Formats: sequence, structure tokens, C-alpha cells
Amino acid sequence: MNNEFKAIVVREKDGEVSHSIERITTEMLSEGDVLIKVAYSSVNFKDMLAVQTKGGVIRDYPMIPGIDLSGTVVSSENSKFKVGQDVLVTGFQTGMSHTGGFSEYVRVPAEWVVALPKGLSHRDAMVIGTAGFTAALSIMTLESKGMSPDMDQEILVTGASGGVGSVAIQLLRESGYKKINALAREENEIEKLLSIGATKVLLARDVFPEKPKVLDTQKFHYVLDVVGGEVASGILPQIYYGGSMSMCGNAGGIKFNATVMPFILRGVSILGVDSVNFPIEKRDAIWTRFANEWHIMSQAIVKDVVMEELDEVFKNIKAGSHTGRHVLKIV
Ligand code: NDP
Repeated sequence: MNNEFKAIVVREKDGEVSHSIERITTEMLSEGDVLIKVAYSSVNFKDMLAVQTKGGVIRDYPMIPGIDLSGTVVSSENSKFKVGQDVLVTGFQTGMSHTGGFSEYVRVPAEWVVALPKGLSHRDAMVIGTAGFTAALSIMTLESKGMSPDMDQEILVTGASGGVGSVAIQLLRESGYKKINALAREENEIEKLLSIGATKVLLARDVFPEKPKVLDTQKFHYVLDVVGGEVASGILPQIYYGGSMSMCGNAGGIKFNATVMPFILRGVSILGVDSVNFPIEKRDAIWTRFANEWHIMSQAIVKDVVMEELDEVFKNIKAGSHTGRHVLKIV
């Protein structure tokens, strides 16, 4: 395949990073045994970081960003995947040190590829993407510590209007949870968050006391945190005895303040969640649940964009002012 095709290319010059749409050939793609014609990608927080100077996502330039993609196999040197098969890829090194999904073609190792389950379209898979996959992992992690729709538990989702948070709310609703609290920063998000399944929307002033306490009134049994930083610090003292908080993100900063008190006096647990290197052999089962069990296609919070519109999306994600998921239509 020697034809030219379109991709977003991130380059570095004199320490400054810039990106643009370029016409490239497969020569520029990283090595791998499966070549995929990309149908859709999606835009995640990490993709926004990837195009920033000192974003911390890309180390070697030039690079094609895009940590997620769905498409059709064009050629495969691995017997597990056949030409014409529909597939998806999320995470691993895609869009970081290995050329990623903001491109008409992607070449990846077969060990990163998941067969698109029956019942999900290419677009559906990217509405979910890394954000949705991470939301599912966070919920499964909390469930392993006792979170259950059969119990009368107060659940809190932070960063609720973003990609991970908004999918988490829909998944919790789909799973039958009844007390789904969404933490948001803007009042204008309230209607949307209620429409996708939150039972209550809390704003910072409802949740954080002026003077943080080491141990505060117990309000939440389980917390799905995507923000980190001060938000995670402020919530920890409000978790019920025996409760847990999953942590997957740092939209609000990488540092958080804590004392040992919630752990030693209330038996609270913090549970880390990583989707990037989550084992490939366990991924099929989760994607199949998205196809059969969880229907999260609330169009209210999904926007379709093309490469030419990406800059606006990056700007809004950086400002924390976007809502939900952006799918990138490649073909
Ligand atoms: P989004 O940008 O879509 O959402 C983040 C949300 O966090 C915002 O919408 C906002 O919601 C809230 N927020 C609170 N404080 C801030 C702040 N200071 N700046 C920006 N946003 C803030 O990101 P994603 O949902 O795609 O990702 C969320 C986090 O999870 C990111 O840090 C990302 O890197 C991480 N992540 C980790 C993964 C893993 O495998 N561990 C996988 C996927 C994502 P609101 O206004 O409602 O408060």
C-alpha cells in the first residue's frame, strides 16, 4: 500500500510542539503485524496532552496521536486476524510511542488488537473508547470491594461531565444503581447529567467544606474518582466506614493531600485503575459486555468531529469546558 493518506502529525522544533494534518504513507507508521484502515477514533484527555509542549505523552517526534481506534483489517501477518475483520484498539503504546488512531491507517502488534464484538459498530466502539473502558474497569474494581446495585449505597462520580465520568454514570444507571451522585463544577451541566442517569448533581460548594477536616461526615460509600488533586483530597474524609475510592485520573492535578485517618479509623481503601496496559486476554469479555449488557449510547453527550475540527476539541478539553465524548470520523 503506497498511496498517500491523511493523518495528524505532531512535530517538535526547538522544544516547541505543533501538530497539523499531513499526507503520509505507510512508511511513517510504526511496526506491527496488523494493518488497519481506521473508521473512527475518539478524543481523550490524553490525546489533548499529546499535542501540547511538555504534554508528557509523546517522547519521540514526529508522532501520530490517537490512543483509540476502530476499523477494518487490511493485511495481517497473524493468523488471529483476517483481512476484512472489524477490530478495535485502545491503549498500550498507541498514540504515544507507536503511531496512533488519528490517521486513515494504523499498523499495530496483533497483541493489542481486540475483535469488534457483534452488536457494536465502529462508531459505538469509539463512543466508548478508552474513557468508557476505564469507566467499566473502575466500576468492576469498586464492585470487587462490595459496591452493588442490591445495596443501599451512595455512589459518587467525580469529573462527571467528562469522558470517563459521563460513561461511568450511564454504566451505573444501566447496572441498576439507584443513588448516583455526580460531582460537577458548572451549574449548566446539571440537566445533562440528570438526563444521562445521575440521580443527584452535586457542585463543589455542596461537597467541600471551607476548612477541610481530617475526618468529615460520612456521605459516600463508593467514589469513582477521575479528577485526583484537591477533589480526591476533599472526598476521602467523607467516605463511609469500609468504603472505597477508585482513582484513574489527574484532570485536577497529580498531587493529593491525605492523612492516614480514613484508612486506619474507617478502613477506607483507595484502588488504582489503569486501562492502558490492562491484559489483552481479559479485554474481550469487557467489550462483549458493552455489546450485550450495557447500552450507553446517550447521544446527548456525544459529538462527531473530523480532523479539521480537532483543535477546537483540544482547546475545550484543556479548559475542562467540554461535555462527554468526541468521536473522530476518519473515513
Ligand atoms: P475529560 O477531560 O473528558 O474529563 C475530565 C473532567 O474532570 C472534566 O470534564 C471536568 O468535569 C473534571 N475536572 C475537574 N477539575 C478539572 C480541572 N482542573 N481541569 C480539567 N478538568 C477537570 O477527561 P477524561 O474523562 O477523558 O479523563 C479523565 C481523567 O482520567 C484524565 O486525567 C485522564 O488522563 C484519566 N484517564 C486515565 C485512564 C487510566 O487508564 N488510568 C484512562 C482514561 C483516562 P467537571 O467540569 O464535570 O468537573
